Amino acid sequence: MTPKAYDPENIFAKILRGEIPCNKVFEDEHALAFHDINPQAPVHVLVIPKGDYVSMDDFTASAPEELIVGFFRAVGEVARGLNLVDPGYRLLANSGADAHQEVAHLHVHIFAGRRLGPMLVRPD
Ligand code: 5GP
Repeated sequence: MTPKAYDPENIFAKILRGEIPCNKVFEDEHALAFHDINPQAPVHVLVIPKGDYVSMDDFTASAPEELIVGFFRAVGEVARGLNLVDPGYRLLANSGADAHQEVAHLHVHIFAGRRLGPMLVRPD
């Protein structure tokens, strides 16, 4: 399957370029983290890599190792910085159509702040 081309006009690319504001939580050379505009939990933060990667598939296949390591370290650092290690948190990365990925720039959701319930909502 041909990977989907990266669209530099996606909303997270605009946030990375500073063209659209965000409520920033963390930034380093590898990643930016900010609060989700439509939170699904008391804490709902998005962590995105600094690079043109459509999805987790694209990122893990194509990104340099330094960025992969830096990105995942940033996810952990954000969670620790928000004091989420205890009582705990959930990570989610939607990849592709079946997962309902809406924004085509890799992002990891961090959910926390309440009991998060079962992992997946059952279909009706
Ligand atoms: P996905 O379904 O692609 O995994 O999640 C996309 C997420 O991006 C959603 O939770 C949505 O609320 C969030 N989102 C979409 N547009 C914006 C925006 O302009 N700013 C912020 N902070 N979050 C956004």
